[in-house]
Order: sequence, then C-alpha cells, then structure tokens
Amino acid sequence: MTTYKRYDPLSADLPHTPMEYPDTYWWATANTAPSDDGKLSENIDTDVAIIGAGYTGLSCAYYLAKKYGVRVHVLEAHKLGWGCSGRNGSFMRPAIGRFLWSEYLKKYGLNQTRSLFQESFKALNTMKELIELGSIECDKQPDGWLRVAHNKNRWCVLEREYKVLQQYLGYKEVSLLSDAEVTAHGLGGTEAHGAIYYPHAFSAHPLKVAFGIAKMAREAGATIHTATPVTRWDQNYNQHRLITPHGVVNAKHVVIATNGYSTEKLHPSLKARLMPVLSSIVVTRPFSPDELIKAGFTTTNIVIDTRKLLNFYRLLPDGRILLGSRGSITESPKDDFRISNDLLNTIKYKFPKLNDVRADYHWSGWVALSFDSMPRVHSLKSHTGVSYAIGYNGSGTTASVYFGKLLAEHIGGGVQIPEVLGGPLSAFPFSRFRRVGQRLAFAAFKYQDKK
Ligand SMILES: Cc1cc2nc3c(=O)[nH]c(=O)nc-3n(C[C@H](O)[C@H](O)[C@H](O)COP(=O)(O)OP(=O)(O)OC[C@H]3O[C@@H](n4cnc5c(N)ncnc54)[C@H](O)[C@@H]3O)c2cc1C
Repeated sequence: MTTYKRYDPLSADLPHTPMEYPDTYWWATANTAPSDDGKLSENIDTDVAIIGAGYTGLSCAYYLAKKYGVRVHVLEAHKLGWGCSGRNGSFMRPAIGRFLWSEYLKKYGLNQTRSLFQESFKALNTMKELIELGSIECDKQPDGWLRVAHNKNRWCVLEREYKVLQQYLGYKEVSLLSDAEVTAHGLGGTEAHGAIYYPHAFSAHPLKVAFGIAKMAREAGATIHTATPVTRWDQNYNQHRLITPHGVVNAKHVVIATNGYSTEKLHPSLKARLMPVLSSIVVTRPFSPDELIKAGFTTTNIVIDTRKLLNFYRLLPDGRILLGSRGSITESPKDDFRISNDLLNTIKYKFPKLNDVRADYHWSGWVALSFDSMPRVHSLKSHTGVSYAIGYNGSGTTASVYFGKLLAEHIGGGVQIPEVLGGPLSAFPFSRFRRVGQRLAFAAFKYQDKK
C-alpha cells in the first residue's frame, strides 16, 4: 500500500526535486511554455537574485532589467509560473489584501483606506501595463466584476460597501444592482440577490500572463533558471550565497518572491510570519450557449459572492464554468476529493437548471495569509540586501506584479516603498497552532455562511 505524504509549506523542507506543471485547465490550454535558461549548472555572481518565478518575481525581474539595467537572475524550483501565478482564477481586480473597503475604513480610518484604495488601482494598472507592453496574448475577457449577495441577508453588506465606495472613496462608476437588474446583467440562479457592479477589472488566462512576463523579462536582459530550487541560503553581512543543486549564486541583493510556497526554512525573516492556505478550483465540461441561457449564467464578468469562505466564478471562453473557493486544509487525496465535490455541488446549487455538471479539471494551490490579512513589500533592516513581496491573502494577481515593480524601483532606483504597503510582516501569536486556528476559523466561517 502506498502512503500519501502530506505536503504543507508550514512544515516542509526547502524544495529539492523539480516538478512538472499540475494538470490544470490553464496548462492544458496554454500550448507550450516559452523558453527559459534551464537549470543553473555553474557558480555565478549577480546583483539581484530573485527566488520564485511567479508574477512577483517575474515582474520584479522585468522592471529591474528594463528600467535600471540591473544584472538579475531568477531562481525557480520548478517551472515558469508553476505556483499560484499559473493556477489562479485570473480575477484581475484593484485589490490589496482580503477585506472589503468598508472593513478597511473601520479598521484603519479614512486616510489609510484612501491610500490603499489608490494603491489597488496602481496594481490593476501595472497588470494592464505589462499585458500591453508585452502584447501578451492572454484571452482577456471584457472588463467588469460583480460582488453578488449569495442570500437575501447579505444585501445589507452590499449597501454598506456601496456607500463607502461612493461617498468615502469617490468611486462613482460602481452601481448597485437589484435582483432583477443582476439577472438582466446575465447572472441568475439561486444565489443572485443583488450585486455591486464594478467596471474596473478583467479576467484572462493566468499562465499565459506568466509566460508573457517571463518572455519580457528575458528580452530585457534577465536570466531565469527553472528546475533550480534554492536549498540553502548563507549570508555574510551584504554577501549572499544561495545554494542550488548544481550551482551557487553569489548575490548582493536577494528578493523573496515565494508567497504561499515559502517554507520557513528559506529565511529567518519568514519564521511564524505566514499562514499557507489551500485555494481550489474546478472547471466543468463546456456548456452550450442554450444551456447557459437556460441556467441564467451568461455574463462574462467575474463574480465573487458574499460568503466568508467566498466562491469566485466565471465563464471561460469555451463555455465552461470555473469556480473556486477555500475549504481544504491538506493536500491529501481525501480532502482533494471532498473539496472538488463541494465545488461541483456549489455550481449545481447556484445553477439548478444545468444538467450533467461534471469536473473536467480540478486543482489547488497554496496562497499566503498574513497575521493582519495585509500583504507586504519590504526591505529588511535586520538583514542587509534582503527584500520580500509577500502575503497577498489570496488576492494577489494584480498586487504581485505591482509589488514586484515597487521592489524593482526601490532596489534599482532607490524609490521609497509607499508607507501603507511597507514594513515587516507581523508574527502570528501561538504560531505552532496555526493549522488548529485555521480549522476553527473555517468551521466558524462555514456556519456564518449558512445564515
Ligand atoms: C486556486 C487559486 C486561485 C486564485 N485566484 C486568484 C484570483 O482570481 N485573483 C487574485 O487576485 N488572486 C488569486 N489567487 C492568488 C494569486 O494567484 C497569488 O496571490 C499570486 O499569483 C502570487 O504570485 P507570486 O509570484 O507571489 O507567488 P507564486 O506564483 O505562488 O510563485 C512562487 C514561486 O516560488 C517558487 N519557490 C518556492 N520556494 C522556492 C525555492 N526554495 N527555490 C526556488 N523557487 C521557490 C515556487 O515554486 C513558485 O513557483 C489564487 C490562488 C490560487 C491558488
């Protein structure tokens, strides 16, 4: 009998063995990966070494090489965009962290919330800028997203959020849609009890986006080594030695861009600072236009509901439905099977008129939660020449490319990191019990979501 060894970044060793892409819809439809510089097979010197070839690392590499002509090497344990950047739902929204703007207002007050709101639009614009500059062909779908009330009791959440957006943040382009209006917008079914429509957001093919940025970074002069896990990191004041299986990298500056795939053994600054959590997706069989009309799901806008353990969903260009959520604690086959069934049942519940709802694809990835639910872009005072951009709390598609750019401007051009995004990650109290805390929190969220 084979026993399954659970992978969990909380307790895992640093990666040693390069892995293939997981069996996702994105990998199946990406055609082929662009070329990279393969595994590192010699000892090298560089100005900046970046660990991780997701959106954060690739964007940082691109801007460092392009804007500042810096000698930069990206070291990726597996493949280009192998982590969350090649597995996400591709909801490209103005978002920093995981709270509603009404929650930020309560937590941080008006000035800080306004600053964060502005930063979130810079994040969206960075993603747009990269796609445009690189002419990245990534199956972009039309602008706009919906936050939908999944039951009648959540309408008040939308009203509160809408008021904050309009009155406090001056976001006049959003509109509040009634049940009838959201149905007319192309989102019906059993869980569409009104929505906020936001015009500024789009969806795309996330792995093609990662491939596009990787190509831009290499064309700008960056080197990207895949199948090159960093297995040890020695620091002697401002000289860093990164050990990989077939070569050593001597770097003046190191950027940690490993987000949910960070293990605490990589660097002391990560100790007790992150909570890796699985996010999972199912992609159904393709539905015909008639089936989707009958089911009441025709909008190509991205949709997020009002659950605590939120569901995010969208129609793919070939008529499939993608739906994702949190809920799984481990990557064990048992949890995997349960979460994939739960997600399919959610689609069936939301759209009861759909027949033969089956999953053609199902996968998960590790996102990184931080103690205060806020991401950070930061250069460490405790360790010379070490920076990180990390802790996106599951909303990192646009924040990651923006944070990568901010780090590039900071390292390459000495530009200050915006105060509202900077500073070190806080430590989790009772950090040994993070998984226990997650189980309790998820159980509470599930209970609240039923109300
Ligand atoms: C299922 C799912 C759906 C999501 N949907 C959305 C969404 O719709 N919208 C949104 O905003 N966000 C979403 N996210 C989150 C978003 O994808 C991430 O926040 C973002 O991609 C993080 O990018 P990154 O480059 O920082 O990290 P990643 O893309 O995870 O890259 C980290 C890389 O570091 C590498 N690495 C780790 N350790 C080492 C080492 N020792 N040596 C070398 N390399 C190493 C890993 O192999 C990995 O490739 C989703 C995430 C998941 C899993």
